[in-house]
Amino acid sequence: MHYWNNFCIFASKTDDMTTIILKSRKEESILRFHPWVFSGAVARVLLDADHRSNEPEEGELVRVESADGRLLGVGHWQVGSIAVRLLAFGDERLKGLGDEWIRGLMHERIASAYRMRQRIGLLREDNNTYRLIHGEGDMLPGLVVDVYGNTAVVQAHSVGMHRCRQAIAEAITDEVSEVKAVYYKSDDTLPFKAPVEGDKTGWLINPESPEFPESPAPDEYWATENGLSFRIDWLRGQKTGFFIDQRENRALVERYAAGKDVLNMFCYTGGFSLYALRGGAKSVHSVDVSQKAIDLVNANVERNFPDCTNHKAVTADAFDYLSEQRAQGNQFDLIILDPPAFAKHRDAVKNALRGYQRINAKAIEMIRPGGILFTFSCSQAVDKEAFRLAVFSAAAQTGRRVRILHQLHQPQDHPINIYHPEGEYLKGLVLYVE
Ligand code: SAH
Repeated sequence: MHYWNNFCIFASKTDDMTTIILKSRKEESILRFHPWVFSGAVARVLLDADHRSNEPEEGELVRVESADGRLLGVGHWQVGSIAVRLLAFGDERLKGLGDEWIRGLMHERIASAYRMRQRIGLLREDNNTYRLIHGEGDMLPGLVVDVYGNTAVVQAHSVGMHRCRQAIAEAITDEVSEVKAVYYKSDDTLPFKAPVEGDKTGWLINPESPEFPESPAPDEYWATENGLSFRIDWLRGQKTGFFIDQRENRALVERYAAGKDVLNMFCYTGGFSLYALRGGAKSVHSVDVSQKAIDLVNANVERNFPDCTNHKAVTADAFDYLSEQRAQGNQFDLIILDPPAFAKHRDAVKNALRGYQRINAKAIEMIRPGGILFTFSCSQAVDKEAFRLAVFSAAAQTGRRVRILHQLHQPQDHPINIYHPEGEYLKGLVLYVE
């Protein structure tokens, strides 16, 4: 026996699977289906007989038991403050665990996620872009799958999911009839320094048709969101290549855009800009600090509106750009602020809130009387109330009269597991500025 991270590990066990035993009364959240076991809740670890090292392996499938010996669930072991991410609870089909079980689990969860998206009308001729798996929200902690037409892009956020990647890819092509190819892109999402075997990027399933060349990503791949075409570059782009989570909020921008001068800050591939153009905006300015993003915006505008003369894309830092526009006395009728997560961790929340206040104050100052601001935060660590307070402070700083018209959030293909409220991350406010 030895000690590791404050709990003791017994290095031998006759059973076939490593078992994590919780401290007494630490099973309560799991009995309410919360999918995480924090390392502080672990009393003991009983390693299975095959272990060569003295610790569970990162990504290993482990069983979780209460202090009084009840089987609570099965999940992936992790190094860090979350010790286990649970894949199944209680005695939910926990027999014969192993590769076969994982394959069955992936098929069941992916089929259920796909069915949900079909039933709520997300898959249509004019919309083949959607998130198929949203981690805990689809009962697969550590996994994200975005679908672009006949290609799925998979991101593993845990070594456990990395180990399951082939089973995931096979379950996707078996269950989702449209998907023919599966690309894996996890170099930025797997825990830093985690011991990972095999490639972190590349095709998991590639039907070798001319449309899917052996090269890492086709040069020109287009997908459709609400009837608009977007070029998706999952290899060089951010995340899986596109921010699907703003689809419904973009549609709302379209409703307000007619006749307006629109400024889309942090535009990335220009999602909001395209909807504003379709909604009849008088002019649209798209701003992003990344030149690659601006190239994509221009390609997307050209593809959807070949004769467009009222769109301008600018590569610039958002704060500098707003200051410059202000100095020139420019104003807009509708501004969209969709910055990257200002707080990636809890310790960064204070600074993040200052950042949100600063950028929102700059934007509110630049809205013409009677104009509208769409403002967002995708920082999970900043909750709805804190974000609203930052925007409130920004409004107060400008002295403008401001009303909240809409309170926005993540869309239906980024569901929140009711037992895992931490899954809520995107929030937005639509403000009317007098
Ligand atoms: N609104 C986009 C998604 C925004 S993601 C959409 O609908 O798809 C955030 C974007 O902010 C990224 O494209 C990133 O390049 C850009 N960005 C990050 N820091 C920036 C800064 N200081 N100024 C301008 N853009 C920035």
